[in-house]
Amino acid sequence: MECIVKGIVLGGVTYKDKDKILSVFSLEKGLISCKLIGVLKENAKLKAVKEPFCFAEFVLTGKNSNFYTIPSANIIDSFFDLTADYDKFAVACSVLEIVKKVAMEDNPNEALFIEMLKALKVLTYENVDENVVLMKFLISIFEAMGYALSLEKCACCAENFIGKRFFNLESGDIVCFSCKRPEMNIKPVI
Ligand SMILES: [Zn+2]
Repeated sequence: MECIVKGIVLGGVTYKDKDKILSVFSLEKGLISCKLIGVLKENAKLKAVKEPFCFAEFVLTGKNSNFYTIPSANIIDSFFDLTADYDKFAVACSVLEIVKKVAMEDNPNEALFIEMLKALKVLTYENVDENVVLMKFLISIFEAMGYALSLEKCACCAENFIGKRFFNLESGDIVCFSCKRPEMNIKPVI
């Protein structure tokens, strides 16, 4: 049985020398594992498909031992220009990492898919502050998951924000300047 899904490659691991198992977040099926047979051979025709950020229409064939197989794919965008700007590339990698964590296997999540695609497009094609893109992405997916982030009060001391706000990437809280600690993994919020 064959089907076609739209998806983005989040990453992959080498399998049996010349094959690759890709982690793909698809619009239709959520997170899936897909085998690209022989893709590490020199003249493999689907070479470009194995790269992270590859946005494509994937043809999938029957699921065997947890993997689909990709016999062919039609690349829509590789987001290649991301590699030209290290800071934007790093944020784009964080977006993929976050999707890996929150996406569920064989469970579609249209809102997450759209937000991911939007973030990658803006990072690649628009002249914007990459931290703002990451913030917007996080806020939108937290909203979609039912968390309400308070943008008015510090999550730590509960005082109204006066100066800059800081987003704690690990806890998902927004804190004020006095509550931020050097050991926190934080991003400033505008
Ligand atoms: Zn505070």
